[in-house]
Amino acid sequence: MTEDSLLNHALVRLDEAAAHLSIDPDVIEKLKYARETTKVRLMIRMDDGSRKSFLAWRCRYDDTRGPTKGGIRFHPESTADEVETLAFWMTFKCAVMNLPYGGGKGAVQVDPRKLSKAELERLSRAYIQAFARIIGPDRDIPAPDVYTNSMIMGWMADEYAQIVGQAEPAVITGKPIALGGSLGRGDATARGGFYLVRHLAEDCGLAESARVAVQGFGNAGQHIADLLASDGHRIVAVSDSEGAVVCADGLDVALLLEAKKQGRSVLSTAGQAGHQVLAADQLVAVDCDMLVPAALENMIHEGNAGTVKAKLILELANGPVTPEADKILAGKGVVVFPDILANAGGVTVSYFEWVQNRQGYYWTEEEIHQRLRSIMEREGRAIWTIAGEKQMPMRTAAYVHALSRLAEAIEAHGTQNFFMS
Ligand code: NAD
Repeated sequence: MTEDSLLNHALVRLDEAAAHLSIDPDVIEKLKYARETTKVRLMIRMDDGSRKSFLAWRCRYDDTRGPTKGGIRFHPESTADEVETLAFWMTFKCAVMNLPYGGGKGAVQVDPRKLSKAELERLSRAYIQAFARIIGPDRDIPAPDVYTNSMIMGWMADEYAQIVGQAEPAVITGKPIALGGSLGRGDATARGGFYLVRHLAEDCGLAESARVAVQGFGNAGQHIADLLASDGHRIVAVSDSEGAVVCADGLDVALLLEAKKQGRSVLSTAGQAGHQVLAADQLVAVDCDMLVPAALENMIHEGNAGTVKAKLILELANGPVTPEADKILAGKGVVVFPDILANAGGVTVSYFEWVQNRQGYYWTEEEIHQRLRSIMEREGRAIWTIAGEKQMPMRTAAYVHALSRLAEAIEAHGTQNFFMS
């Protein structure tokens, strides 16, 4: 791990939280390193008959609170450092929500858009063949992440079932409904963030009809825009990788969703009066009450945090605000609902899927929504209270909340053996 590794940056949050708790230094030592990260090379047959290899990883960062849980990312720039950092965040996210899980993550270094569907299926199955001994319903439970989806999870669940000789739907979440997926998983990340905002809106002075800017218009961005617009808020700006469209009177969300459904950029909806087009990186400076980063990591940084006009940031993306930007935002009095709380609706409904698979009894969508809302409100309120009592940002409060749960579990396991399987 080099000085400026992604994981080192993420560990700053651990040190910040530890400074507010009196816990055994052994606990911090344990949480500073991934428990195990396995690297393999997957070799698959391409459609033209040639063979091609891809680097792949699975990291089980910490399993003190239960089996490790975390998605599999297919991305050409994935690295072991990124996988371990995402697994570290999952460890804290699961502890924030009090889910009986540790944190894990996986990746394949590949651009899936360059593969045919058959090649993608072979690669997905090869991943499970390589990691079948590591994953399992009580050991490590993958899910979708960037550029993976329910179709891929379906292939992976099928491959695992073939290897172990029986159906094991609880080995992986985010599956198609037909293979034991849960209702309500599609919009769970945005819906969790939505419940959180609705619950704490009054406490943080958010107007009933707030002006909202959404950065990134994929799964998380589209659903949050839709939910907030239906609840009386005004979506004044959205962006995707091609640019941003802004309208102070409010954008037509249905039109934006339709454009995305047809594979077009949000810019294709900009031809109406009062609409303005901006470069994608200008969205953070748009005049609004709430900003929702729902794209990639490090989008709000030292160079642009000073231009943020919103008073509230809802982090649906993982790691969208750098530690330097956090300080600038805190100085401006901006409240940040941090990723490990704000986007935890996704892993929470994944947990519901695992529970339903294990009990073989499935809940209605309404039951899923109710259970999700109650957990988001309970943990959001607890973190809001810690932040108020200790006069600290919500992010530090979220890490304090998670770290005290992790410390309790690590200590309860006993002090002589920190390497647990
Ligand atoms: P997605 O691939 O569906 O959407 C990402 C969107 O970001 C796309 O619209 C893309 O065009 C846009 N984008 C890319 N670069 C951009 C840029 N420079 N400026 C503006 N927009 C840009 O991904 P997603 O599933 O919606 O995930 C988005 C973020 O939320 C990621 O950080 C992901 O880790 C996080 N997240 C997602 C889930 C989930 O359940 N989907 C759960 C937890 C966290």
